[in-house]
Amino acid sequence: MHKNIKNSCVNDFDPSALDEITAIKQILKSITAIKKIETINIMDSLGRIASKNIKSSINIPSFRNSAMDGYALNIENLKKNKYNLKEQGISLAGQAYDKKLKNKETIRVMTGAVIPDNADAVIMKEMIDEKDGMISFPDFIQKNQNIRDIGEDITTGDIVIRQGRQINYVDLGILSSLGIRKINVFKKPIVSFFSTGDELIAINKKLKKGLIYDSNRYLLFGLLSELPVQIKDMGVVKDNEEVLAKKLKECAKVSDIVITTGGVSVGDADYIKSALRKVGKVNFWKIAIKPGRPLAHGKIKNALFFGLPGNPVSAAVTFQIFIIPAIRKILQMPHSSKLTMKAQVKSALSKKKGRIEYKRGLLEQKDGINTVNTTGLQGSNILSSLSKANCYIRLSSETEKIKKGDIVEVIPFDINL
Ligand code: AMP
Ligand code: MG
Repeated sequence: MHKNIKNSCVNDFDPSALDEITAIKQILKSITAIKKIETINIMDSLGRIASKNIKSSINIPSFRNSAMDGYALNIENLKKNKYNLKEQGISLAGQAYDKKLKNKETIRVMTGAVIPDNADAVIMKEMIDEKDGMISFPDFIQKNQNIRDIGEDITTGDIVIRQGRQINYVDLGILSSLGIRKINVFKKPIVSFFSTGDELIAINKKLKKGLIYDSNRYLLFGLLSELPVQIKDMGVVKDNEEVLAKKLKECAKVSDIVITTGGVSVGDADYIKSALRKVGKVNFWKIAIKPGRPLAHGKIKNALFFGLPGNPVSAAVTFQIFIIPAIRKILQMPHSSKLTMKAQVKSALSKKKGRIEYKRGLLEQKDGINTVNTTGLQGSNILSSLSKANCYIRLSSETEKIKKGDIVEVIPFDINL
């Protein structure tokens, strides 16, 4: 264990690399939105994307009802009767009292129960006095208090789900409250992926010197599993241009998106670019972000291609920054700008000018003050520091030195990177 050695990767800077924003724009420009839809039960729709607006055909509530356990009354009657009324009946949720209130009458009502048409206030049970079936009320009563009006939540014709919305638990509540059992969603785009590298072995084999377990495929599987896509694990391919080209073609035939990891840099065994050129089109392959740098983007027939770097942290970060927006666009989801926060760095940071850097950080909040520290070695092979992180510290392209106590931008995880 050499935990206190410096990062093994020296900072270098490539002026021909594309900046993050331009790269995202180019990716988004190359995308055609998915058209295919399917009709599914709402119970199967969590996380799926609505393919058209859904309107309500009813009002919620659909009848005037009580917001409290209490007494429904008519304020004019109440005043005429000097704030004393006779308890005439009871309206329970699901068992309505369906007569009008007469001059001297009040009825007991439960939360959610229908109230008489001419009732214009409900008084909480705790506010009244009861004696021999006669109820005396306080004299400060406001019109319509504790009455839930027709359509106050959702009105007939309201759009309750917009096209491109990812269905969540609230939507399940809303759809079912409207009596909607099935909805139209976009079909899941098919995403196939494979790892590349002669050094990779399967996790059920014994390790030998010079070999490593193929972990990227599992990492990618995890990242993809959180998205409304159909996942096709295409295994591992050796560093061989012919074989890679054949595999890319095979994947593109059955997928909307093809993702690879490794072999995309300038090493002697990096064949992704040349293989892609054989079977498709390379759009760009270098980006000015760290971790990341080599990232190939292109097309193979109609399939979108992403060649992610082999280093696991680079693969994860580039997936989050470039592939998630691409999948969102394919599914016609609205473009989401990242929610960021400001925090004070607990120790000095440094970086090279000319590229954006995402450092793995631990964000803490104490007495309303946000502080952040890096979580350890920041090499793009160091997955353990990503595992300890709860945010990325985003350092702009121009930034060079950050002193202890400076304010930096952080992107908390689980929000929207
Ligand atoms: P490459 O981009 O192929 O040059 O790989 C960069 C680094 O990532 C090397 O140290 C590789 O061994 C490592 N790497 C590549 N693919 C994987 C993988 N599937 N799982 C874990 N590490 C990988
Ligand atoms: Mg390799």
